[in-house]
Amino acid sequence: MTDGHDQLDRFQQLIVAAHRVVVFTGAGISTESGIPDFRSPGTGLWTKMKPIEFRDFVASDDVRQESWRRRFSGDRTIERAKPNKGHEAVAKLVREGKGSAVITQNVDNLHQQSGIPDDKVIELHGNARYATCLDCTLRYELSDLEQEFLTTRRIGPCRRCGGIIKTATISFGQAMPEAAMRRAQAATVACDLFVVVGSSLVVYPAAGFPELAKQLGYPLVIVNREPTPLDPIADLTLHREIGPTLSWVVGVN
Ligand code: ZN
Repeated sequence: MTDGHDQLDRFQQLIVAAHRVVVFTGAGISTESGIPDFRSPGTGLWTKMKPIEFRDFVASDDVRQESWRRRFSGDRTIERAKPNKGHEAVAKLVREGKGSAVITQNVDNLHQQSGIPDDKVIELHGNARYATCLDCTLRYELSDLEQEFLTTRRIGPCRRCGGIIKTATISFGQAMPEAAMRRAQAATVACDLFVVVGSSLVVYPAAGFPELAKQLGYPLVIVNREPTPLDPIADLTLHREIGPTLSWVVGVN
């Protein structure tokens, strides 16, 4: 293989030389945990039915209840999924103090489950493992909401403020989360190596972060099975399986 050990060696050297690695992950890192890549945030993950748009969810209680019905009757793949070798390698980087932040397009919570503290994980598309009130941000566990739904066949308003409860994902038509975007930008500016893992880098503004890193002069590494639009500006691209590649480079057995 022409793109074999030389590339892995080079990747490892970049990691060794770096002190503040930002890892940017997309769906590709989680396919090895059995989560299919629908290339879409929010409701698209849960169903092959037409996704529910944010404005419809907010405007109509019927739409909200339909959304919850889908949520509790649909695909439970995310809840069963476990972190894989790729997640473990990223977690090792963070644990050893070399990984400064993980910016993720995924909503599956697998970085946190792999042991990375919440404050190191920046979720651009939210999190599908819990829900929040859209008004006061009170957190609701899905297991509690499912009990409510099974009992009453509906999810009522927020118990604290009467607002609308929604899974903590960013739906179609919903604004990007400002705080997460700011944190992702700050982490990118402060990094000294930017590593993209399993993202096709076609969704903006998310794909702007590796571009920013490159503009600031930091090395950019892309690990993705398929070519991406940013391959031409990357210092190193590895079109390889993510788990084995990261495990080798980071030294996880
Ligand atoms: Zn509330």
